[in-house]
Amino acid sequence: MSQTKIEWTELTWNPTTGCDKVSQGCKFCYAEVMARRLKAMGQEKYKNGFKLTLHEDALRIPYTWKQPKIVFVNSMSDLFHKDIPFEFLQRVFEVMNDNPQHVFQVLTKRGNILFNYHKELKWTHNIWMGVSVENENELERIDLLRKTRAKVKFLSLEPLIGPLPNLKLKKINWVIVGGESGRRPRPMKAEWVYEIHDKCLKENVPFFFKQWGGTNKKKTGRLLYGKTYNEMPEVQINF
Ligand code: SF4
Repeated sequence: MSQTKIEWTELTWNPTTGCDKVSQGCKFCYAEVMARRLKAMGQEKYKNGFKLTLHEDALRIPYTWKQPKIVFVNSMSDLFHKDIPFEFLQRVFEVMNDNPQHVFQVLTKRGNILFNYHKELKWTHNIWMGVSVENENELERIDLLRKTRAKVKFLSLEPLIGPLPNLKLKKINWVIVGGESGRRPRPMKAEWVYEIHDKCLKENVPFFFKQWGGTNKKKTGRLLYGKTYNEMPEVQINF
């Protein structure tokens, strides 16, 4: 496990590392940059760099956490990558099923693979399933998520690089919005954010505004209408 600066979670847990790019949102993939850096620093877990790698030994980690945690699963990969064997995916789900005291936030850009597998996975209440959507081209991911048996469904609209006028929030329990940061960030227009926020208000969906982004994300900050939006779904803790 690792502490993280990601605003909407507490810890990251990476039973796999590495990935391949699938859409525009992947262009400046943070995980790719980090994986290469960690490889250069000689970290054993990242000896394959950004090549997809399974980490059997990581499967025991959630059993060692003494206090309930909110955990982002696979911040350095995508749990629904096509090269992850279904048996390994099932084992990751078993770990999450076995640890209902923790909330596991799983986020994918591979809505099609998620949909193909969802009936064969056990969706306990502590597994929050999300899809990333960066522009209108990827709205199908949301339709596929909606059809799954996941009990809590969320959207990460980050990096938001286009407007989402056709976004529908039926059966969606949480929305995160954020702009791209880094050296060459693609801009996020304020009106795109206002429109999504309005829809969340209307549909009573918790809204989390992560950041405006840009080349100096500290300066642009995360205020919207002069306040921070840190809403989340209600966490059910079961022991
Ligand atoms: S799906 Fe996620 S982890 Fe994989 S390349 Fe794209 S942004 Fe990176």
